[in-house]
Amino acid sequence: MSPLEDLPIRDDLRGLKPYGAPQVPLPVALNVNENTHPVPQDVADDILDSVAIALRDVNRYPDREFTALREGFADYLGHGLERDQIWAANGSNEVLQHVLQAFAGPGRTAFGFGPTYSMYPLLTRGTGASWLAGEREHDYTLTPGFAAAQVADARPDVVFLCSPNNPTGTPLSLEVVEAVYDASDGIVIVDEAYWEFAPKDERSALTLLPDRDRLVVSRTMSKAFAFAGARVGYLAAAPDVIDALRLVRLPYHLSALTQAAASAALRHAPEMMRAVDEIVEQRDRISATVEALGYTAYESWTNFVLFGDVDDPHATWQQLYDRGVLIRDIGIPHSLRVTAGTEEETTAFLDALASLESAS
Ligand code: PMP
Repeated sequence: MSPLEDLPIRDDLRGLKPYGAPQVPLPVALNVNENTHPVPQDVADDILDSVAIALRDVNRYPDREFTALREGFADYLGHGLERDQIWAANGSNEVLQHVLQAFAGPGRTAFGFGPTYSMYPLLTRGTGASWLAGEREHDYTLTPGFAAAQVADARPDVVFLCSPNNPTGTPLSLEVVEAVYDASDGIVIVDEAYWEFAPKDERSALTLLPDRDRLVVSRTMSKAFAFAGARVGYLAAAPDVIDALRLVRLPYHLSALTQAAASAALRHAPEMMRAVDEIVEQRDRISATVEALGYTAYESWTNFVLFGDVDDPHATWQQLYDRGVLIRDIGIPHSLRVTAGTEEETTAFLDALASLESAS
């Protein structure tokens, strides 16, 4: 029996497993969809200057309303968004947790189409709500009719739409968002954590925000801004939704140093987006090369690729591990997921994969 079972822990947490992607120092780590390009030196210098200024006042609590940062996000997102429609927290995980704390909780339900981001059920249960898993088509896509029918049936308080979807990379059409919104009375969260890696001419769910008071669009600086270690996520929604989030956040939840660092990084958005273009190139190279090696690559609008037709995913994962390349076995049969790295890292992965026995 695990020691946890002996503790007077909440009944609804018994038997749950914490989030646990391996953190091991392999030379090529492509397992958690990080941006493996370091922050450019000039951007890092500017961030450091801003953090140094913030340090002068670190004896005081930070701006509880992170006003300058919210203005920065509103400018970055565009679409006529204003500061009072923006919220931020320590990673989009915390942003999503705030939404669930305000709109899910005991006796309520949250819903998502599996396979999807593994933290949704965990965050949901952490608030005391129940998780309802919906289904996708066999290729992980969703059609408006199929998605809306499942949501109408489940009547959840919160719906997650991961766009594009982790761990499959699958795009989600705005028609699905509209149909799910219309089929539901609850909060609909479109998680656009990987949006910057989508084709540039595509429309974000931000364009659907006007007149949809229950719609929330979340983003993160962890991926496109290479800021995973700084922990900054954000969302856009109606001002009333933002007011609801104020009820559940901890006072001063975003440190002055985080606010200063994030505002400085945002000022360099165009420079940071250049690495995004390089990553998209490597992603497409991965898709083409794994196909040539006999695997199937699922369409991806993200910074990673899910590939199928892997005979024994765990064995392949281990063989790559032994060659110094860490990717992710996310438990989808015959499939593995790899993050697009720098050109060198991507080459190391593809060479290691090519050196293994061929696909099934
Ligand atoms: N949403 C999705 C779909 C993700 O894949 C991730 C991270 N892998 C997150 C949210 C959370 O990211 P963060 O907390 O770093 O902003």
